[in-house]
Amino acid sequence: MATNRTFTMIKPDAVANGHIGAILNDIIADGFKIVAMKYTQLSPEMASKFYAVHKERGFFGDLVSFMSSGPIVAAILEKDNAVEDFRKLIGATNPADAAEGTIRNKYAKSIDANAVHGSDSDENAEIEGSFYFTAFEKF
Ligand code: ATP
Ligand code: MG
Repeated sequence: MATNRTFTMIKPDAVANGHIGAILNDIIADGFKIVAMKYTQLSPEMASKFYAVHKERGFFGDLVSFMSSGPIVAAILEKDNAVEDFRKLIGATNPADAAEGTIRNKYAKSIDANAVHGSDSDENAEIEGSFYFTAFEKF
């Protein structure tokens, strides 16, 4: 089951800039089905936990404060080859390198404020989805 699912967040910059609707539209138009979805805000503690894998990186403090700075949309998405296809749809981490037409190319302004998160493996998709949603919240 995990192999056809990924996890995403629409990050605080994209929410603040009014891009929730457009981003969800792009995701659905690309063939993803929404399995679970939530509008919420991370505390700094929750953001540190979510991005714990990056805790030794120089940008960790900025990443945690940015990700807890405003509301986000968290969602689990389903499609064949979900993890890889979604990374293709969102584009490179730095929007300056993101391919034309990708979500980060269209809606992101900087490497910090890069509009969306996408899981990088099936294993992490499962871990990240379970961070936000219980079994009763996945459809
Ligand atoms: P995400 O995990 O958010 O989908 P990603 O997988 O493309 O992004 P990661 O390497 O996992 O990139 O980094 C997590 C986040 O940390 C990035 O989305 C970005 O906002 C931030 N980040 C990564 N590298 C840098 C950097 N060199 N300088 C500043 N911020 C960075
Ligand atoms: Mg990542």
